[in-house]
Amino acid sequence: MPDTSPSVQDYLKAIYRLTRDGRQAATNRLAAALGVAPASVTGMLKRLASEQPPLVVYRRRRGATLTPAGERIALATLRRHRLLELFLVRVLGYGWDEVHEEAERLEHAISARMEARIARLLGEPAFDPHGHPIPAPDLTLPLSRAVPLAQAAAGVRGRIVSVSDADPAVLRRLSALGLLPGVGFTVVQRTAGDNLAYLRVEGSAEAVVIGPALAEAIFVELDT
Ligand SMILES: [Zn+2]
Repeated sequence: MPDTSPSVQDYLKAIYRLTRDGRQAATNRLAAALGVAPASVTGMLKRLASEQPPLVVYRRRRGATLTPAGERIALATLRRHRLLELFLVRVLGYGWDEVHEEAERLEHAISARMEARIARLLGEPAFDPHGHPIPAPDLTLPLSRAVPLAQAAAGVRGRIVSVSDADPAVLRRLSALGLLPGVGFTVVQRTAGDNLAYLRVEGSAEAVVIGPALAEAIFVELDT
């Protein structure tokens, strides 16, 4: 990875996440995602746009998108993050709810050599413990068709692809309910007012009730 600071890597990763849907990463959304003031975001975006080669394209009042050079750094950081999460779970015995914070720190610290050794030890894995794809060594990443479970209507069947790793409490709740990547489900019922989803989960007899916040944290592929 080129010589960039941890905070540059975090910015590029956050812009990558916010622009996956084809939108610009607006300054205020970026500030919220990174937990910093909008004014410092603006300063950093100007700096990233004036790097050689530029890492972002910044438009005042609209926000930023990544250049190819910026995207490569974002994907390289994501590759390390996801490899480290899997390493912590598989080799060091961490729970899947304990690895995100550790990986946030370690992704900036390990060498290319250690990254390659971890990948080899794990058998060049394709997915992290939360079901997110790990960018390949050439930094390609398969396109995902996953949508939030919140978008699944009653009667629909599907499979859990990935879950958000942002909140450890959400991850603990998901494992208690058996809602893990790879698990199949049917949406039995949806209620309008309180926005609950009742799921029948593969391998379990009882229906599981999901509130709206949890339904936004679960990403699924639906049968067509
Ligand atoms: Zn993570």
